[in-house]
Amino acid sequence: MRFHVVTIFPNMFESYFAESIISRAIQSKLISIDTYALRDFTVDKHRRVDGRPYGGGPGMVMWVDPILRCVEKIQKSIEKRSKVKNLKSKVLIIIFNPGGTMFNNKIAKETAKKYTDIIFICGRYEGIDARVKKILKAKEWSIGEYVLTGGELPAMVCMDVISRQVKGVLNDENSLEETRMASHEMYARPEVYEFNKKKYKVPKVLLSGNHKLIDEFRMKKENKIGKIGN
Ligand code: SAH
Repeated sequence: MRFHVVTIFPNMFESYFAESIISRAIQSKLISIDTYALRDFTVDKHRRVDGRPYGGGPGMVMWVDPILRCVEKIQKSIEKRSKVKNLKSKVLIIIFNPGGTMFNNKIAKETAKKYTDIIFICGRYEGIDARVKKILKAKEWSIGEYVLTGGELPAMVCMDVISRQVKGVLNDENSLEETRMASHEMYARPEVYEFNKKKYKVPKVLLSGNHKLIDEFRMKKENKIGKIGN
């Protein structure tokens, strides 16, 4: 799975993806993340990417032109790569919009299966000129019912969630294939934790070694993860 991100803040992505599971997945070439600085695709000396909205109103709208130029470059590099490697590529283009389709684990799973390349277009200001969606036949995703200042966090969230669905990214311990019970009530050492003179104990059943009972306990305590379809 190869991710391509169009953004005016490419640096935002560096620290998050330089750590932990995602960084290992990049190193082992299971995924790749390329960011493209949208301002590099402008033609004026001020490197502007936005203008006033028709019809008035506050804020600015991101122009079609720099975005299209950037996406074209990405598409060309994807084509070139598939020619060189003689592989078929399947590209999905996503625009982030708080009003878009609500992203979830099911979408992540299907996307990981179906596509080889995803281009994420991160909005800022009041959003992106609506013609970008039409011209690129892009889908619009939202990551929740709230408004963020930009599409960079949504891009990171979606890349993280989709990467988990790519085979080999999670180690055995966290493996999705395992039919383990996902519980939100988990405990680790110590067995008894004392706080303000009160003792907080690990439920006895978890110490019993009886896996049938443990599974039953976890099933009862199962959080939404199970239903989300880990
Ligand atoms: N007035 C705009 C707000 C845009 S917020 C509106 O109501 O649509 C600026 C950008 O942040 C958006 O273009 C989008 O790319 C991103 N964004 C903000 N909240 C988001 C959310 N919940 N999910 C996905 N993207 C979001």
